Amino acid sequence: MTDAPDYKSTVFLPTTGFPMRGDLPKREPYILARWERIDLWARTQRQMEGRTRFVLHDGPIYSNGNLHIGHALNRILKDVIMRAHRMAGEDAPYIPGWDTHGLPIEWKVEEEYRKTGRDKDAVPVLDFRDECRRYSQHWLDVQTEEFRRLGVTGSWAERYATFDFGSEAAIAAEIGRFLLNGALYRGLRPVMWSPVEKTALAEAEIEYHDRSSDTVFVRFPVVTAPDPRLAGSAVVIWTTTTWTLPGNRAIAYGPEIDYALLHVDGVAEGSLVRPGERLLIAMPLLAEVLRAAGITTHHLEHVFKGAELFGTVAAHPLRGQGYDHDVRLLPADYVTTDQGTGFVHTAPSHGVEDFVLGQEYGLEVPETVQGDGTYSAWVPLFAGLHVFKASQPVSDAVEAAGGLLARGTLLHSYPHSWRSKAPVIYRATPQWFISLDGALDGEGSIRARALDAIAQTKFIPEAGRTRLSSMVAGRPDWCISRQRAWGVPIPVFVERRSGEPLRDPAVLARIVDAFEAEGADAWYNSPPERFLGQGRHPGDYEQVMDIVDVWFESGSTHAFAMEALGEGWPADLYLEGSDQHRGWFQSSLLEAVGTRGRAPFRAVLTHGFVLDENGRKMSKSLGNVTAPQEVTDKMGADILRLWTMNSDVNEDLRIGPEILKQQSELYRRLRNTLRWLLGGLDGFDDAERLPDAELPELERWVLHRLWELDARIRLSLASHDWTGVYPDLHAFCSADLSAFYFDVRKDALYCDGPASKRRRAVRTVLDLLHRCLTAWLAPVLCFTAEEAWLARFPSEDDSVHLQAFPAIPASWRDPALAERWAQIRARRSEITTGLEYARTDKVIGSSLQAEILLPKFFEEHLSSDDWEEIAIVSSVVFTDEPGSLWKHARLGSGGGWIQINKAPGEKCARCWRVLPEVGSHAAHPSLCLRCDEVVSQIPATQVAAQ
Ligand SMILES: [Zn+2]
Repeated sequence: MTDAPDYKSTVFLPTTGFPMRGDLPKREPYILARWERIDLWARTQRQMEGRTRFVLHDGPIYSNGNLHIGHALNRILKDVIMRAHRMAGEDAPYIPGWDTHGLPIEWKVEEEYRKTGRDKDAVPVLDFRDECRRYSQHWLDVQTEEFRRLGVTGSWAERYATFDFGSEAAIAAEIGRFLLNGALYRGLRPVMWSPVEKTALAEAEIEYHDRSSDTVFVRFPVVTAPDPRLAGSAVVIWTTTTWTLPGNRAIAYGPEIDYALLHVDGVAEGSLVRPGERLLIAMPLLAEVLRAAGITTHHLEHVFKGAELFGTVAAHPLRGQGYDHDVRLLPADYVTTDQGTGFVHTAPSHGVEDFVLGQEYGLEVPETVQGDGTYSAWVPLFAGLHVFKASQPVSDAVEAAGGLLARGTLLHSYPHSWRSKAPVIYRATPQWFISLDGALDGEGSIRARALDAIAQTKFIPEAGRTRLSSMVAGRPDWCISRQRAWGVPIPVFVERRSGEPLRDPAVLARIVDAFEAEGADAWYNSPPERFLGQGRHPGDYEQVMDIVDVWFESGSTHAFAMEALGEGWPADLYLEGSDQHRGWFQSSLLEAVGTRGRAPFRAVLTHGFVLDENGRKMSKSLGNVTAPQEVTDKMGADILRLWTMNSDVNEDLRIGPEILKQQSELYRRLRNTLRWLLGGLDGFDDAERLPDAELPELERWVLHRLWELDARIRLSLASHDWTGVYPDLHAFCSADLSAFYFDVRKDALYCDGPASKRRRAVRTVLDLLHRCLTAWLAPVLCFTAEEAWLARFPSEDDSVHLQAFPAIPASWRDPALAERWAQIRARRSEITTGLEYARTDKVIGSSLQAEILLPKFFEEHLSSDDWEEIAIVSSVVFTDEPGSLWKHARLGSGGGWIQINKAPGEKCARCWRVLPEVGSHAAHPSLCLRCDEVVSQIPATQVAAQ
């Protein structure tokens, strides 16, 4: 056969210009530039006009550094979801947002000052604000470019930022709403305070670190008691914050707890306890206290129920030195017997529970500590001392006064500022609050309304509901004032005579107008009469110079970004990291409920945090940080996007070099699928297309699978839960297409003649697959899908992103057929295993060299011709008499067996099937009948002779 013609040129091998290698880091920037050139976003917006609106309101991100992987995850996820809604025919705008005020930016600017030896306090406030604005703007610009490179599309030019004049005016107007509806009040309250930053901090600005604290056991001598047996005894307290003792105003006990009145008989050497004295300690903690205080022998005089202690009054251990107030014993349900003595030293200025108890019993709230962390001038013995240096002097003074029982140290979890990493304290200061429990407009309180709104919101995952509810139920009033400069001032005047804030809508309107025109700087550079108006004397009013908590600002974005920029209100979806239950979700909820009576969102979707490959937090010191910019530069944005959508975002996610390698492998397979489709569709003509009814079963099975995947995507569009969608698409490409459908149909596609119905059916389905897959992959592989679309439909200005998801006819659904093909594929995999064994035993080389004998029941599934195609063998014979079985032939369950022989006949030089008919005709003696017919229709000049 050496002179046989080479039939290779007559085989319809796949041809495509779509490269095998993605080369994404090089190619993606070109695609981005093309989108710019064809003004893709503006065209998308025009296309969406008039459609059903889907609103995802973007949570503002903080503009103070390069994007990290968490930002990338969040905005890629949003981008994929919004792109999908657009392709599903909705109007889904995306207006990115920035949080541009606040302490972290001030802190950075101050750091720059310190580096260059400048004194912040010497800089005029407007100059300082200007520096903060420029710093913020710089990072906003950097982050915008970084997001665009990730393929995140939206109204970048119309982005919102809290420092825009319009935003500042709107935030002031929102504060005004609370001023006018009565929820805003000024109160002396303990707030989390950072002595280093000299400001109140929000719960979301706090992180907990271990800290070693001095602890003390202190006795408070009983002065008067309803029960005479208590006369001459002392109540023992234990505290880890010795510095709060000057603020002590009461002692809390648990009404249900048993308290021992014990008589000390003997003590260890060095003990500060005096034999003969009588002490009150909770029974369950007795042993521990005795050990700590060095009490060796004692006897119990009596056991009191906590409730019996009501009405007892003790003396402060420093009585006679300026601490002469009474210390009442008060019942509190938060007292436990986990630690200490069962008596809780209560300082209303230095703890929320203490404060609440104090309010209930009318205790004073002294301003013991100043903003810089030092005791106020009036504080006896300790004025001017810093509280973090006070535990020794205070305990020394208590000891000198005879009040100390024992000292110790304790390593415990203590609140710190997340910015300065310095420990924080509770400190009572005048602050502005939004009352959560006061009735609004004669209706329910903000808290009650918020809990109601949570009940009506959809949470994905559902656990978010409980999380947010319990946080809202348990939180104190919202402290919205900060003693800082970079933010929106609380635009309030307080009448000096009454101490009441001025509630005048006309004044507010003047302030809002000024902010709108000149920004919030107007508050600092205008004379107060500009806002107060005629008839009011500026001297009668105090202008509040605090700024508002940044969480109030971001909590108001629904008002100025969502409402004003035309996204619609409320949003269909808020989508952020799960830490936003105590941040943005909560502030937005409270703000909207307080001003508009309902939540600004219908659904809340949260995602987890990104950890390294071993589940550790990323940190520079561990060297395990994956930066999105680096992934994009080395592998391409599509890889990072694919990673996002292949992850279970409800849980914490992991990323690192190995995981990214796996993702590029998954990407490669998706790309190969697209390439195979494009190659197989070379020269496809619409006239080739067959109607659905004329498609073979196998093709109709593919249509059914497309129907299923479409339904899967529609379900995610409705539920907002996208977990698993793209892994399903990937599995379809690799298991259903590459490993099965493409494999089976390769022969028809390459070797059948152009007029063959079978080949036309295959190409009809490849066309549908190409349209579906490029569309479905477009939201996630936004660059690659574009490339695969244009490779098929070259155009100067078209884009896959202007296409819709293909409409899938309901008639494609065929569960019975799917069930039937599931069985056929199970049988097929038995045959494939048999072929593997035969290959190992060198019975055959390629599967086309095989003839297989199958039990007759295989015929129930398919004819022998069909089995030849499906199993990719040259001959199938059904028989119930397999003769001497080939040794590995018994396979599977249900009595399945196959016998594999060498197929009889010669190998067709064109299609490689081994058939007896090869050689039976003169024109093309080396071809099978099918190939003979195909080649006969090709002009001889095209058949290259060897
Ligand atoms: Zn052939």
